[in-house]
Amino acid sequence: MADNKIFFDNTSTTKVDPRVLKDMLPYFSEHYGNPSSLHDLGDIAHGALDNARSQVASLVGANDEEIYFTSCGTESNNLALWGLARAAKKKGNHIITSVIEHQSIINPLKDMKKEGWEITHIGVDSNGSVDPDQIRKAVTDDTVLISIMHANNEVGTIQFIKEISEITKQNEILFHSDGVATAGIIPVNMSELGVDAYSLSSQQMYGPKGAAALYLKKGVRLKPSLLGGIQERGRRAGTENIPAIVGFGRACGIAKDELDKNAKYISSIRDKLAEGIIKNIDNVKLNGHPTRKIPGSAHTSFEFIEGESILLMLNMEGIFAASGSSCSSQALKSSQVLTEMGLSTTMAQGSISFSLGKYNTEDEVGRTIRVLPPIIERLRKMSPLFKE
Ligand code: PMP
Repeated sequence: MADNKIFFDNTSTTKVDPRVLKDMLPYFSEHYGNPSSLHDLGDIAHGALDNARSQVASLVGANDEEIYFTSCGTESNNLALWGLARAAKKKGNHIITSVIEHQSIINPLKDMKKEGWEITHIGVDSNGSVDPDQIRKAVTDDTVLISIMHANNEVGTIQFIKEISEITKQNEILFHSDGVATAGIIPVNMSELGVDAYSLSSQQMYGPKGAAALYLKKGVRLKPSLLGGIQERGRRAGTENIPAIVGFGRACGIAKDELDKNAKYISSIRDKLAEGIIKNIDNVKLNGHPTRKIPGSAHTSFEFIEGESILLMLNMEGIFAASGSSCSSQALKSSQVLTEMGLSTTMAQGSISFSLGKYNTEDEVGRTIRVLPPIIERLRKMSPLFKE
């Protein structure tokens, strides 16, 4: 990408770290073996798989055998819901989740509902936080699984996972958390969080697309969705995507070493962007929790105009952001997350998610703060809703 382009869409994906890419390349051309093969090329691939598994496990404080590779965050989430619920079916048919989960949780649960599962959706407050007490109240004798995301990918709010895990432990309920927006971005430790299952994805932490993982606590039962060979100890059949998994492993290693430094840097430039927006533009609102949020998230509502128009005008300036979440930006309606947080329609529709990452700079923030006020002014002049 040319230097004058600004990528503020780091929750949709991230640029691959050059160190990651370098490690991956030999696994396309030289070490292309299948890890299940019993010859030397297979052994090399198998060694790379083991090494990557240790790197992923180490990032999240897990044992190697608790990490199962998948192809993407969606697959990890689907596998966790279907796999854990099916394995616990004899105990009950009730699942608790929140109203602000990613579509890769919401949609499989819709399907499960049609198959007879009872689903309770817990609401959020105006910061996008799920109150653990509401979860406690929703638990019934039939509850077998709770799935609450670690941080929301749109507004960045970090949930009270540890507190929720106390409830699941007391009631012997399985607990899954979607950590796609958090793993590699903030410190994450499986035993501290107290989860039974946790989804994480390479492409969110400067690794390649095509690799992700599901952490499954030792002893937790899960019914596989993909049936075939005995890869991933029978939990996820199919030949492993070794180049991507090698990259994912290295990305986890780098994230572990540089996480604190990156988080500090990213939140400092994020705060400058947010301050600049508030200072220079009227009728704006920063969304998400003021402090409990992921470092790169600066989700902003610009009242009386449409997020998509802002996005297009920013795009013309070489600034890439998102309206709503990137996964739902093709659907022209206000984000469900914002509606659930109680934002008015005129606020919700004019929302932009700026998500900053380690490759963004202070200069880019400065340029955005200069470019944005005239864009908003122009759009508001055209808006029938806006009165000066
Ligand atoms: N969960 C969250 C919180 C996400 O942000 C995303 C994607 N950005 C996913 C799940 C799905 O991941 P993927 O697109 O890699 O399948």
